[in-house]
Amino acid sequence: MTWSRPDLEQVAQGMKGVVLWDEPMSRHTSLRVGGPADLYLEPADLDELEQALARTRSAGIPCLVIGGGYNLLVRDGGIRGCVISLKGFNTLEPLPGARLEVGAGVTNQVLTRFAAEQCLGGIEFLSAIPGSFGGALTMNAGAHGGETMQRVELLTTLRQSGALVRKREELEYGYRFLKLEPGEIVLGARLRLEPVERRLIEENIQEYIAKRGGQRVGFPNAGSFFKNPAGASAWRLIDEAGMRGWMIGGAQVSEVHTNFLVNKGGANAADFLALAELIKLRVKEKAGVELEEEVRIVGE
Ligand SMILES: Cc1cc2nc3c(=O)[nH]c(=O)nc-3n(C[C@H](O)[C@H](O)[C@H](O)COP(=O)(O)OP(=O)(O)OC[C@H]3O[C@@H](n4cnc5c(N)ncnc54)[C@H](O)[C@@H]3O)c2cc1C
Repeated sequence: MTWSRPDLEQVAQGMKGVVLWDEPMSRHTSLRVGGPADLYLEPADLDELEQALARTRSAGIPCLVIGGGYNLLVRDGGIRGCVISLKGFNTLEPLPGARLEVGAGVTNQVLTRFAAEQCLGGIEFLSAIPGSFGGALTMNAGAHGGETMQRVELLTTLRQSGALVRKREELEYGYRFLKLEPGEIVLGARLRLEPVERRLIEENIQEYIAKRGGQRVGFPNAGSFFKNPAGASAWRLIDEAGMRGWMIGGAQVSEVHTNFLVNKGGANAADFLALAELIKLRVKEKAGVELEEEVRIVGE
């Protein structure tokens, strides 16, 4: 189905949330690259989200939901159709039994601070991972031995057929992976945590943040660019392929952490894509290992 600008204008008609036209995605990604999204929306509430989705569906307009953009590489041609951010879905509610109901738009930092104040432990590792809770669920983000999905009791998503609540046992997930249907949107989750003395939670948070010292690469980045292959470290493979500090255009293999690709200034997405291809080629030649991107690549 082909759609036109007036169809897109219909999608945003009457919305109370944020509506931006031809919005550079470099403003919404931590790599600071990416061409414009035709339409960028932050729906005010679930009704608005559902309305926007119904309108995009009936006109055949593609739609991409993003979080904080900390794991996202948007190509230079930008994104045709509609980009939706769930920043407004930022509810955070304590429930009996050491549980928290958390909206997809809550940032990991707000979530971990809130959990600490409630003396609820088990999610401190997220304090070191930038992004939204929705992004953390979708990526099954993890660090320091913890993974987001481990703490989920119920996951709420939105499909074309409506909202769906599933128990963790009903979900398929793994290393940086949660199985979702195409177009399925994560709305939030109920977490089951543990009552822990606040002092211990704060100590964990401080320890995790301190451990991040070695990852302060000083330039815009998206964290680990490649997944760690089974039994190996992507950074080591890239280092052993001799690529520390290599540059294409404004994109560089960080001198500090070789699995971080950084924007040294003026980089575009094509620079990152070319550098990533070169890394994959050299690592394959040197170690016989196929690296796979952890960063999600979108757009045209
Ligand atoms: C300095 C730095 C350090 C990092 N360290 C770590 C780390 O230790 N561990 C780790 O796992 N990651 C790490 N990351 C990567 C990143 O922080 C995580 O992947 C994070 O969970 C991404 O969240 P986000 O909200 O930014 O998602 P985005 O980057 O916006 O989106 C990621 C993907 O999820 C999809 N998505 C986002 N929200 C939704 C939703 N609500 N419904 C459906 N799909 C959605 C997007 O379409 C995209 O495909 C790091 C990044 C940086 C910059």
